[in-house]
Amino acid sequence: MGKVTGFLEFERQHESYEAPLARVKHYKEFVLALTDEQAKIQGARCMDCGIPFCNNGCPVNNIIPDFNDLVFRQDWKAAITVLHSTNNFPEFTGRICPAPCEAACTLNINDDPVGIKSIEHAIIDKAWSEGWVEPQVARHKTGKTVAVVGSGPAGLAAAQQLARAGHDVTVFEKNDRIGGLLRYGIPDFKLEKWLIDRRMRQMEAEGVTFRTGVYIGTEAPEAHINNFSKETLSPEQLRSQFDAVIIAGGAEQPRDLPVPGRELAGIHFAMEFLPQQNKVNAGDKLAEQIKATGKHVIVIGGGDTGSDCVGTSNRHGAASVTQFELLPQPPEQENKALVWPYWPIKLRTSSSHEEGCERDWAVATKRFEGKHGKVEKLIAVRVEWKDGKMQEVAGSEFELKADLVLLAMGFVSPVQTLLGAFGVSKDGRGNVRATTEGESAYVTDVPKVFAAGDVRRGQSLVVWAIREGRQCAHAVDQFLMGHSVLPR
Ligand SMILES: Cc1cc2nc3c(=O)[nH]c(=O)nc-3n(C[C@H](O)[C@H](O)[C@H](O)COP(=O)(O)OP(=O)(O)OC[C@H]3O[C@@H](n4cnc5c(N)ncnc54)[C@H](O)[C@@H]3O)c2cc1C
Ligand code: SF4
Repeated sequence: MGKVTGFLEFERQHESYEAPLARVKHYKEFVLALTDEQAKIQGARCMDCGIPFCNNGCPVNNIIPDFNDLVFRQDWKAAITVLHSTNNFPEFTGRICPAPCEAACTLNINDDPVGIKSIEHAIIDKAWSEGWVEPQVARHKTGKTVAVVGSGPAGLAAAQQLARAGHDVTVFEKNDRIGGLLRYGIPDFKLEKWLIDRRMRQMEAEGVTFRTGVYIGTEAPEAHINNFSKETLSPEQLRSQFDAVIIAGGAEQPRDLPVPGRELAGIHFAMEFLPQQNKVNAGDKLAEQIKATGKHVIVIGGGDTGSDCVGTSNRHGAASVTQFELLPQPPEQENKALVWPYWPIKLRTSSSHEEGCERDWAVATKRFEGKHGKVEKLIAVRVEWKDGKMQEVAGSEFELKADLVLLAMGFVSPVQTLLGAFGVSKDGRGNVRATTEGESAYVTDVPKVFAAGDVRRGQSLVVWAIREGRQCAHAVDQFLMGHSVLPR
């Protein structure tokens, strides 16, 4: 703790954003990272608490007080060493993590928390620009081979850890590019995709082989959403060719809205809409793109995916954007005495909301209506929640013009055919059954097969996927070698 009185002297400074009117004209990132001097002052606000709740609140257990102090002392090189010791990809989390660490920060009890995420962002961007992020090639090869199915943050973290332990790792991805939801899902304006390519190059230099366009399963690849694969390999082929296999296929089965009129044209899952824009931004030519231009857009689902649909629709030039949520509007301020250091449920206004959007809560969709097979309006009803049960408010039905409806109501589970092809057991929610603790951590009930990330825990966050990938790598290394020095 370099500056004992820092938290009394300095206020929190948020990263600044390009103005909404300017940023909706493009798909580039618009967050302006802290300067060295600003980051130093923000680092000085850290109190180096005896019990650092932030470290516990961070799913990868980043050693936050240490890197805050190092940034205060402007020892950036040591700061990136500390940050990388727990997190393979701080350039992703430093941009898109919701920062549960900040909710857990002791300063958050009666003041603004330390700007941990913005410090993380500053450290990793400086490290890359200074050339400090180099391949860490294993000194000895083990001769063992590992297949990773899925190249999202869980698969990438597992692959990088295992390659650094000396194993030969091949990542199989059904899409045409590496990255999972980092690539196809999360908009470019939140995470530019060259950041993934740069990490891929580092991983290739460390010995990881990437094979895109390869679907792992037993049935026709065309059967899946956003599947750009040209080749199919069966789980049995992987099990016979590799010493261990990790399933990191995410939770890609979207929640549907089976109300009358759902079949009308103009109603799409968010994950039909968002990846198309990622592809266009990457320079791909699409035969047909779902566009919001000049349309009245309704986004159903009040979470982050919905918010990404809002931001993308505004960039298309939508006539209007409305976002509905089934649950009531949360309070603007949480009762900190009740919830700290846990993640509070409170009203969250994203940068996409600031760009223009009507938000409405406690609304349920009754049906869609349209003409000539195309959606034209949405009929909704207000609901209230009593004793945890939802009831419609009598006489509250209303309709809204709708040319494009985007369903962003979360994901129910992994795609079941993937799990069926491997023959792994499932938990009650349809995820791969595997624990995270003890000798059987991340192990499925099929020999040599492990699972990590959303495919195991259900839809979650990038930082949780990185944690699971790292821990699963430890479990696989232990399985292959009988011991492991990889950090959990
Ligand atoms: C639109 C959207 C926005 C989000 N925004 C954020 C955010 O801002 N911050 C945050 O922390 N989290 C966010 N999330 C959640 C986060 O992206 C996920 O929790 C995280 O990516 C899960 O990582 P994963 O590696 O487990 O799976 P994924 O990222 O889903 O990757 C799984 C990969 O496996 C591949 N795959 C699946 N089946 C097969 C198969 N049979 N053969 C070959 N490959 C296969 C898929 O193509 C995919 O590339 C968002 C999610 C969505 C949908
Ligand atoms: S990864 Fe997320 S939770 Fe962890 S320190 Fe960074 S912003 Fe906080």
